[in-house]
Amino acid sequence: MAKEWVYKTPGIPDEMFNQSDEVPGPTKEEIRVVTISKARLREGDTVIDVGCGTGGLTVEAALQVAPKGKVYAIDEDEAAIKLTTSNVEKFGVKGNVSIASGKAPQALLTLPNADAIIVGGGGGYLRAILQIASSKLKPNGRIVVNAILLETATLAIAELKELGFKDIDIAHISVAKGKQINSGTMMMARNPITIVSATKL
Ligand code: SAH
Repeated sequence: MAKEWVYKTPGIPDEMFNQSDEVPGPTKEEIRVVTISKARLREGDTVIDVGCGTGGLTVEAALQVAPKGKVYAIDEDEAAIKLTTSNVEKFGVKGNVSIASGKAPQALLTLPNADAIIVGGGGGYLRAILQIASSKLKPNGRIVVNAILLETATLAIAELKELGFKDIDIAHISVAKGKQINSGTMMMARNPITIVSATKL
């Protein structure tokens, strides 16, 4: 299939992804850009995407680590697995992605060690997910947590400190997009997202 996204830069427009009312995502394009940048990905890297949803972050990460790298995408929801599979095919990164149905943290145990772990969903299991993620990260590996809830962000900060991560960074991203109305361009706010990232010692 012809490549849908021919650029090196992340930020695939949201509407290019196959989407479903049953599955959250994709993570909005500007949030994906910052998330991928915080993960500091290189060609050849191994990445784990916890809670892949629509596959927005999975696809963006795969494009960064291709041709040799690999993204392991997991989700507990079968509909998310199907949708991520369709988007991975759509964007031509099938060879760089391994998608597995499973619930974190348990599902993380069988995955290989990673250069970066992105947590886009974890339900109530964030603390345990971060503990296992920490043991899976290579030295200088990167963890990135996308939090919709303030409680998720504060828990991530506390747990990453506890686990001895260095350079903990908290970025709260608010994006407003311009919408054309009769009299001009109206800025429409999107939900702010807090991105907590850090480096494994
Ligand atoms: N980043 C994604 C959207 C993630 S939505 C994108 O760009 O498309 C969050 C996802 O996390 C949901 O699909 C949900 O099923 C999944 N999830 C939540 N808790 C989980 C857990 N403990 N284990 C696996 N998946 C989980």
